[in-house]
Amino acid sequence: MQDLIKEMESYANENNVPIIQKESIVYIMKYIKEHNIKSILEIGSAIGYSAILMASVNEDIKLTTIERDETRYMECLKNIKKSGLDKKINVVYQDALEVNLTGVSYDLIFIDAAKGQNNNFFEKYKNFLNKDGIIITDNINFHGLVGNSETIESKNLKELVGKIESYIEFLKENDEFDTEFLDIGDGLSVSRRKESN
Ligand code: SAH
Ligand code: MG
Repeated sequence: MQDLIKEMESYANENNVPIIQKESIVYIMKYIKEHNIKSILEIGSAIGYSAILMASVNEDIKLTTIERDETRYMECLKNIKKSGLDKKINVVYQDALEVNLTGVSYDLIFIDAAKGQNNNFFEKYKNFLNKDGIIITDNINFHGLVGNSETIESKNLKELVGKIESYIEFLKENDEFDTEFLDIGDGLSVSRRKESN
C-alpha cells in the first residue's frame, strides 16, 4: 500500500495531476476515523489517490467517486485494483453534474473537481448528505491566489479564482450550512448543516 501511494505521488508529479496535499488528506482521514464515517462521495477522482486513502481508514467504509476524464478514470481503476480496495470503492465515469443518484446518502461529501463549479456541486449534492454529514471542499486558497483575483493578469485564471471567491461568499452567507475555513494544504472548507435545519 505504501509503495502504491508513493508510485501515485510520482505519477501525479510527472503528469501534472493535482492530487490533494499531504496535510489536507491527513486532516480528512483523521476526521473519518474520529467520526466513524462510513459512506463517502467524492467529486473528482483523478487517479484515485484521495479515494484510496480515505477508503483505507476503516474496514467498513464505502466510497463512490466520480471522474469525467477517460485517461484519469482508467488510471484510477488500475490503482484501486492494485490497492485491493475495489470492493469498497465504486468509480463512476461521468460528469458529476450529470450523474443521477437515487436512494443513497453520504456521511462525507468531498468536492475536489472543476473549481469554477463548486457552487453547482454543492447545491446538487447537499441533497445526498446525511443529517450529521459534512461537505469538505479542497483548494479553497487556490495556491494563495484567492482573495487577490483583482491583481491577476490572465483572464482565465482571474475568472477561475473569482469563482472560488464567490463560492466562499456563498458558503459564508449560506442559511442552511455553517462553514469553517481551514488554512491547511491548499485550503479546505468544512460545511455542516445548521442545527435548525
Ligand atoms: N481528488 C483527487 C484529485 C482530483 S483533481 C485527489 O486528491 O487525489 C480534479 C479532477 O476532477 C480531475 O481529474 C478532473 O478531470 C475531474 N473533474 C473536473 N470536473 C469534473 C466534473 N464536472 N465531473 C467529474 N469529474 C470532474
Ligand atoms: Mg484538490
